[in-house]
Amino acid sequence: MTDLLTINDILGPDGLIAARLKSYEQRPQQIEMAEAVGQAIQKRQHLIIEAGTGVGKSFAYLVPAVLAATEPESEGLSSEPTRPKRIVISTHTISLQEQLMQKDIPLLNSVVPREFTAVLAKGRSNYLSLRRLASTGERAASLFTDDNEIDQLRDLRSWVRETGDGSKSDLMFDVLPVVWDEVSSDSSNCMGRNCPTYKDCFYYRARSRVEHAQIIVVNHALFFSDLALRRANVSILPDYDAVILDEAHTLESVAADHLGISVTSGQVRYILNRLFNDRTNKGLFVSGGHKQAQKETIECHIAADDFFDEVYQWYLAQTSKSGKGNNGRIRQAEVLRNHLTAVLGKLAVTTRRIASTIEDPTKRQDFTAAHNRLEVLADSVNTWNKQALSEMVYWVEGYQRGRSQPRVSLRAAPVDVGPTLREELFQQVPSVIMTSATLAVGNNQSFDFFRSRIGLTQSTAQQLGSPFDYEKQARLVLVKGMPDPQKQAEEFRRHMVEQIKRYVDQTDGHAFVLFTSYSMLRFAQQALTPWLADRQLALYSQGDGIPRSEMIRRFKENPFAVLLGTESFWHGVDVPGDALQNVIIPKLPFSVPDQPLLEARLERIEESGGNPFADYSLPSAVIRFRQGFGRLIRTQQDYGMVVVLDPRVYTRRYGRVFIDSLPTCQIIEESVQQSFE
Ligand code: SF4
Repeated sequence: MTDLLTINDILGPDGLIAARLKSYEQRPQQIEMAEAVGQAIQKRQHLIIEAGTGVGKSFAYLVPAVLAATEPESEGLSSEPTRPKRIVISTHTISLQEQLMQKDIPLLNSVVPREFTAVLAKGRSNYLSLRRLASTGERAASLFTDDNEIDQLRDLRSWVRETGDGSKSDLMFDVLPVVWDEVSSDSSNCMGRNCPTYKDCFYYRARSRVEHAQIIVVNHALFFSDLALRRANVSILPDYDAVILDEAHTLESVAADHLGISVTSGQVRYILNRLFNDRTNKGLFVSGGHKQAQKETIECHIAADDFFDEVYQWYLAQTSKSGKGNNGRIRQAEVLRNHLTAVLGKLAVTTRRIASTIEDPTKRQDFTAAHNRLEVLADSVNTWNKQALSEMVYWVEGYQRGRSQPRVSLRAAPVDVGPTLREELFQQVPSVIMTSATLAVGNNQSFDFFRSRIGLTQSTAQQLGSPFDYEKQARLVLVKGMPDPQKQAEEFRRHMVEQIKRYVDQTDGHAFVLFTSYSMLRFAQQALTPWLADRQLALYSQGDGIPRSEMIRRFKENPFAVLLGTESFWHGVDVPGDALQNVIIPKLPFSVPDQPLLEARLERIEESGGNPFADYSLPSAVIRFRQGFGRLIRTQQDYGMVVVLDPRVYTRRYGRVFIDSLPTCQIIEESVQQSFE
């Protein structure tokens, strides 16, 4: 019986989930999606599947994944041979990962009559290293400067006796980064099988669970780090037969982040301080009395300060010039003088020499790890400055708070992630399934934009609408007569505040306002604060530095409130029920075209004969707009309005593409004048 288990047996109206969950509503779109995912895995095909909100897409991919992972082995004399497959499921947000690991997978495990193991794979640095904890304890006096750090180290020692998996998320306190970095598992500071605590090692136990699991849940960051490591024949994940990439609308940006270079001044200073900090007289080189190495570290500190200062001055000079392209982008190799690589390299050699004189392998390991890190840094700065990787865009980011040292990032990212994903993902993994509620653009609901951005040439595609009745549940309010946000920016801002008040009043809070920039968010926050206080409405603003999850928790608890959010609130936020009844979108979410990576992408499109606006800026803004709209209706009982204040949605021809990409709903046009009457 279990050999013949089908998707319908689990997801159907009389299926195993319906029998367990009284509130379970079976939806035809969910079965359709599950069938499509199952076929793609079996036929070793790539699949793009857009599933509207409410389809229940997590079960729609988990069920075929579980069936494929537990498929009985057969020789296939009369049909295709079968065998259990290993499936990776990757998500962008932690909230979705938690939903999969804490709710959906345990439920399937309890109702599906087949045994399967599913584990959450975390990055290595999430695990405590027993050996490093012991060796840090021995050197604590030479490593840490304040009592709090020493106290935390003691707390970690007690915790290690009780923890189940030794991972950071199991800790009951917020561990200081400087302490965790000394005790966490680190590939360059690991003795592997030669480690005296290898047998009890948390990281290797977790790794072994991952290696034996049939379903592995990861986040996109870990997934793309694994992909990048595979270039050097190293990997975090075992080989797999299929990957299901949920929240796939984020793929291009996550891939670009992980396939490029990022070296920050903070990273360099941090590593040097761990070796020797002459202000506190702490660091790795202190306990052994390595005077020469201490001297070289001081030289490195000075060289790093000089180098990052020069880079920052260059950045300030460049970005203060008016005109297009003055955005920190470096268009030629070796525009800046790099004297940092040589001194980092010299210190790496000294560190290796010290390591070679240490007999105790556990003590030697700290020096070997420091040597490796210094070499990687020296190499990355050199590669970045020489622009040694082709097809990349290179740039500098920087800022300075008060009189503190400037914070500088040296960045590089592939202009087009398509070729890399094609070679290293689509040609390597038999089945890549990409899903999201928003992948298509326009009234013909085309996936061409998504495909072209990720370099996917061969795949099947399917679109499944939402089961929600948007015509009854949602209103789209277009406010007519607003100033143009590009041509009359100041006037637009003033009117925007008045219109936000007008619509927040209508729903007595219960509102999100989704901005496209922090500057506009701060302007609105300042202007709205006294008005909201008068009305006893709470304000949760991303400008206040509160973590996103905390803002959402507070909003759900007290929805007589307005939440002001930018980028991360447009997607992945789930507020079902009455709490959220009003989503206000002041400006259409076009990205700023002078950001170096975006600028380079637009140039590339133009060079190859395309139209940067139509081929990139517009479709990516439409996808973000659809995401923002999607925050409103999360269940069949939800209702409310989405208010668009940007007049371009009806004054420009392209405005239609935004409207046509939304599910059919009531559209109401209101005049801006009404608010002042
Ligand atoms: S095996 Fe590596 S990660 Fe594990 S305890 Fe030893 S050094 Fe740490």
